[in-house]
Amino acid sequence: MPLVVTKKYTHLFFDLDNTIWDFNANSFDALYIALDKLKLLDQIGSYDAFFRIYIDVNDRLWDLYRQGLIQKKVLSIQRFEESFQRHGAPVKVGGGAVNDAYLAEMPLQTRLIEGARKILDHLHGRYEVAIITNGFKEVQYDKIKNSELSKYFRKIFISEEVGAQKPRREIFEYALKSMNAPKKSSLMIGDSWDADIIGARDFGIDQIYFDPKSDLNREKGGPTHPAYHNFNEIIAPPPCFSETQQKNGGKNQVTTRIISDLHHLFYIL
Ligand SMILES: [Mg+2]
Repeated sequence: MPLVVTKKYTHLFFDLDNTIWDFNANSFDALYIALDKLKLLDQIGSYDAFFRIYIDVNDRLWDLYRQGLIQKKVLSIQRFEESFQRHGAPVKVGGGAVNDAYLAEMPLQTRLIEGARKILDHLHGRYEVAIITNGFKEVQYDKIKNSELSKYFRKIFISEEVGAQKPRREIFEYALKSMNAPKKSSLMIGDSWDADIIGARDFGIDQIYFDPKSDLNREKGGPTHPAYHNFNEIIAPPPCFSETQQKNGGKNQVTTRIISDLHHLFYIL
C-alpha cells in the first residue's frame, strides 16, 4: 500500500451529519433544551435513558424513511411518540410539538467533529468542496450558517431539494454535474456506510469511510484516538488506515478507504 496517494482530486463531497457537524452531541443537547422548554423533563426521569431509546427509535424510522417506506411527517411525529411510549411516559403535547421544539433547537447547536474545522481550513481554496446530505432542508442550511461553515462549501446538496436520497445515484449525479466535477477526480467522504460509501461506490467515485469506532486501529496495536493535533508534525502514517479497490460494474475501478480520525485526511488530500 503506498503511503503517499498520488491521485489528485479536484472535487470533494462531504456528508454533513456526524462527518463535519457533530450530530450525536448536538442532538443530545438540542433535545434536552427542547424538553426543558416544554416542561417535559420532569416527566421522563432519566434523560440519558430516554435519549438512548430515542436514538434507537429514530435510527429505525430513518431507515424506513430512506427506503421510502414512510413519509417525513410520520418520521417526525412517530419518533417522539414511540420514544415516550417505550420509555413509559406517553407525551401529552403530541410528537409533532416535541419535533417542532427539537428542530428549532437543532440548528442553534454548533459542536463539530474533532478535526473538522482544521481540515476544512486546509482544503479551503485548494479544492472545490461541497456537501451532500440527507437531512431536512429546514435545518441543514442553518446548521451550516450558525456553525460558521458556509465559507467552506461552494454548494450544498440536500436530498429533499434534489429529490433523491443517498445512496441513490441521482443525488450524486446531480451534485457532480452542478459542480462540473469529473468522476475520476471526485471524492465522497462520509460516516454512513450504506448511504455515503455504497452510494458513491456504486455511482463510480472514490470514497473515504469516516468510521470513528473503527477497530482497525486496535488490530494494528495503535491508539484508539491518535492525537494528531498538528498535521505538520505527522511523519508516520496513521495506524488505522486501509484501502481497497473495487470494480464498479465492470467499468472504472474505484477506491474505498477507511479512516477513524478526520486528521487522517491530511495524508490523502
Ligand atoms: Mg452522516
